[in-house]
Amino acid sequence: MSFAPRRIGMFSLLLGAVLLLMLAGLLAASSALRAGDTEHLTLDASTSARLVETRLSALSDALQTLAPGMTRDSTHNRRALSALTAAMVARHPELDRVLVALPSGQVVLDTVIHEIAGTLVLPVEPGVAASALLPLLDRRHVVLRVPLTFDSVSEGTALAVFTSDAMLSPVAEGAPQGRRFIGILAGADTIARIGAADQPAKIDWFGTQLRVPGGTHWTLEVAHARRIRELRLALWLLALLALVFLFSGLLWERRQAIRVAERSAELERLSAELLRANRMKSEFLANVSHELRTPLNAIVGFVELLRDGVYGELSPRQASPVDRIAGSATHLRHLVDQVLDIAKMAAGRLEVHPEQVVLRAFVLNVASELESLVAERGLALSIAVGTTLPRVRTDPAHLRQILVNLLANAVKYTPEGGITVRARLVDGTSAGSPIGCPDLSRPWVAVQVSDTGLGIALADHERIFDEFEQVNAGPRGDSSQRGTGLGLPISRRLTRLLGGEITLESEPGRGSTFTIWLPVDRADVQVAKERVSPASATKAVVE
Ligand code: ADP
Repeated sequence: MSFAPRRIGMFSLLLGAVLLLMLAGLLAASSALRAGDTEHLTLDASTSARLVETRLSALSDALQTLAPGMTRDSTHNRRALSALTAAMVARHPELDRVLVALPSGQVVLDTVIHEIAGTLVLPVEPGVAASALLPLLDRRHVVLRVPLTFDSVSEGTALAVFTSDAMLSPVAEGAPQGRRFIGILAGADTIARIGAADQPAKIDWFGTQLRVPGGTHWTLEVAHARRIRELRLALWLLALLALVFLFSGLLWERRQAIRVAERSAELERLSAELLRANRMKSEFLANVSHELRTPLNAIVGFVELLRDGVYGELSPRQASPVDRIAGSATHLRHLVDQVLDIAKMAAGRLEVHPEQVVLRAFVLNVASELESLVAERGLALSIAVGTTLPRVRTDPAHLRQILVNLLANAVKYTPEGGITVRARLVDGTSAGSPIGCPDLSRPWVAVQVSDTGLGIALADHERIFDEFEQVNAGPRGDSSQRGTGLGLPISRRLTRLLGGEITLESEPGRGSTFTIWLPVDRADVQVAKERVSPASATKAVVE
């Protein structure tokens, strides 16, 4: 369907932007946390490696002190070296055994310091090759081989035997939080370790080279538990939630937009249907009214002929019903005329043919038509329309109908007193009261019909301009008094068609003043001002 919305709404755009920012923030936070973890791990590995290296080189230095005391005399050696070894052991309590061999491989010293249960105690005889001893050591021991040199001359080899625990003891104390494993690898063998490196999915590994005195290299490996794993998981969960939220927001907005589009399409359809129905009703009314007028005109015409005695004198008994037929037929024709006007206006079939109207002559002419009616009611009619008024460009037929309506109402609703018709110019410079003026920024001619009649309560001021609304309906029996409730609505519609407005000032018992506001051109105002001599400029003519 054509009304389906294709563009993303403001709400989704905003939400999307916020969520994208949030996602970017989450990504940055997550990678920062990850980087922090890695740094923590590498720092632990390098610090630990340096500590082990320091301990090994201290031990190596201690073993080197044996070199100057060595001679080829094994008895001397054993005695001299035993003393030195005792001093060394005091400084290195981790040592379990010390062996010294001559360059030939002959063991000249074997000092067992600690005998650990289950640990092999080597039966060392002078002359046994050191290399033959090593396979006999169990796996929990580490052997550090240190070449003994003195004045750059090789004096033999020292072998320091100690347990793996002892080698890692400096890094065991004060281990950083989260460390799961630390170990030393010689080739593919783990020669020392603390902790168990289980659940590899939850830990990070890092290996670093360890320099061992004597020229070999070991590897120190550290494993840390991923401490921020839960936090990152929570962050990603949050991101997922945000995406779900965005998606459902988009869906909601789209559904909402479709609903609004459907509703407005439905409203458009209804309004088009209503307009069509209204136009048809107006056309129907216009047609029916038009068709009614022909027979009604015939009735009114023939009744008039009857009353005029064209078909013979009417007897006193016949005269009264014929008068009533005449009154009712005239009222009906008036009603049909008004309905026809309303229907034409609603169907937009009423046209405006503007002409230059000289107001004073125009008002006098209309008033003369109603003169007999005014006199019949014993009312006074005064007209105060100046000759200096500018010409009004309007449709005279419509203006006549409005004025006749207002004057007829004034006669109808004024039991005694009089009626006045006034006209004046209202623009920015005029002294006249602009009460009710539709727009003070342009000039207007205000034509006023005032009476000293019944007046209208403020609450009814707007209502009487609605179709078929009546406040003081005339007596049913008197056809001249009987109203239709269409005069004012027609007058207001016609005035608006002419670009003007009708306003009302009235109070019950104090008469009414209806004002017809007609727009005038500034140029016409100027022409009128120039035409008028200063002496007669403000003179109003009163009949
Ligand atoms: P109607 O045919 O009844 O006169 P109108 O639309 O011309 O219909 O007027 C509507 C109502 O406004 C009238 O019924 C009457 O109550 C009130 N009205 C109109 N003009 C006057 C007036 N000059 N003085 C008092 N009441 C008036």
